Amino acid sequence: MLVRQAKGMLWWRFPGLEEIPGLVHGIFGPDGQNRNGDMGPFNVSLASGQPRHRVLAWRRTLGGLLGFRDLVFIRQVHGDRILEADDGDDFGPERPAGSYDAAMTGTRGRGLIIQVADCQAVLMVDPRRRAVANVHAGWRGTVAGLPARVVAAMARRYGSRPADLLCAVGPSLGPCCAEFVNWRRELPPEFARYRDGRDRFDFWQITADQLADAGVRPERIFQSRICTRCNPARFYSYRGRRTGLRFAAAVGFA
Ligand SMILES: [Zn+2]
Repeated sequence: MLVRQAKGMLWWRFPGLEEIPGLVHGIFGPDGQNRNGDMGPFNVSLASGQPRHRVLAWRRTLGGLLGFRDLVFIRQVHGDRILEADDGDDFGPERPAGSYDAAMTGTRGRGLIIQVADCQAVLMVDPRRRAVANVHAGWRGTVAGLPARVVAAMARRYGSRPADLLCAVGPSLGPCCAEFVNWRRELPPEFARYRDGRDRFDFWQITADQLADAGVRPERIFQSRICTRCNPARFYSYRGRRTGLRFAAAVGFA
C-alpha cells in the first residue's frame, strides 16, 4: 500500500485504485501512540466507549478531508445484509443507516465507511458504471460468502460486470494471527485447505478466491497484506488489545 502523511494522520491507499478518475479511497489508522498511550483520535466507532462528541468530530473531519458530501456509516452486525445507499439523504456522521454489513452506491459525493479492527474491509469499484461498495467481512461474513454476494448485488443494481470490478482487501487479521481453535465448529469444511498446522487460517486468500469465483479477475484483486494484530501502532486490533476502537476504510466517487 501507499502511505502518505497528511494533516497529522496516515492515509493508506491501494496503488491499483489510484488512477481512477474521481475515485477517493483510503484507510485511516493511528500514527503510533501519543504520550498517554491514547490511540483514540482516529476511532470512528460510536460503540467504543469514547465520548460521542469526540467520535463525531473525527467523522466530520474525515468527511471534509475526503471531500464527500455525505459519509455512510452502517451498524455492522456480522450479518449479510447489503445497504443500497442511493435514495434519500438520510446519511451522515450521526446516523448509522441500520444493521448491514455492506453498503453500495452509484451516487457521487457519497463515501461508504467500514469500521475495522481485525475484520476485512473489502473495497469494490466499478470504474465503468461508476459505482462502489464497501464490505465488512469478518469470518462470519466470509462464511456467509458476503463479498461474492455484493459482487452479484452490484451486477443487479448497477449493471456492474464482475470482470470490470476492482477489489481491495484492507489491513486485517493475517494468516499469521487468524487462529481458530474451534474451527471444526465455526468454519465450513471447505475452509480446511486454508489452514496451517497451528489452526491459523488465511482469510486473505479465502476472500480472494471467493471474489475470483464470483467472476472478479485475479489481477484486479488487491491485498494490503498488512496484519492488524502485528501492527498495533498503526491499526486497531480486537484480537491484539480487546479494543472497541475502529479505524475507517473509505471509498466513493467524489
Ligand atoms: Zn499477524
